[in-house]
Amino acid sequence: MQKLTNRSAAVDRSPMTFSERIYIPSIMKGMAITVGHIFKKKVTVSYPEEKRPFSPVFRGLHILNRDEAGRERCTACGLCALACPAEAITMEAAERKPGEENLYREEKYAAKYEINMLRCIFCGYCEEACPKDAVYLSETLMPSNYSRKSFIYKKEDLLIPHPKTQDGAK
Ligand code: SF4
Ligand code: SF4
Repeated sequence: MQKLTNRSAAVDRSPMTFSERIYIPSIMKGMAITVGHIFKKKVTVSYPEEKRPFSPVFRGLHILNRDEAGRERCTACGLCALACPAEAITMEAAERKPGEENLYREEKYAAKYEINMLRCIFCGYCEEACPKDAVYLSETLMPSNYSRKSFIYKKEDLLIPHPKTQDGAK
């Protein structure tokens, strides 16, 4: 084992001066720094009341889109789930029933569509993989929450409201 022989870094234990013992000069110095910062330009923002502008490449919460006629674009092809490196997307496909023509664009639709936001890394691969422009990442920040369950976003949470029901009318 190497023996420690260098003693040049010994701690200076000389007695404290009077001004060091009464602490007042150090307190005044600290107060001067604090007061100096009060008048400087703020670098922080009071989030969530105040928000910084987003970067053009920011990716936030997902949105499931509708087409011009208000029909769900998603056809439950599963490509977004396949492309997802975090395995955050799960879905169940269903066949459309007679009378549902106005709801779904194709024969197949997603009866269940879920994204686990605790797994999601907001890479945007799902958006790129979608052949129907059905899913995209918006500029909405994911809100914080108290339970893990509330981070599982269901189709009802992701799908933009139908134009006819947006104002609450059926
Ligand atoms: S953004 Fe990336 S990680 Fe999140 S669901 Fe889409 S593909 Fe998966
Ligand atoms: S969101 Fe797009 S890629 Fe994903 S299942 Fe629906 S249509 Fe397919």
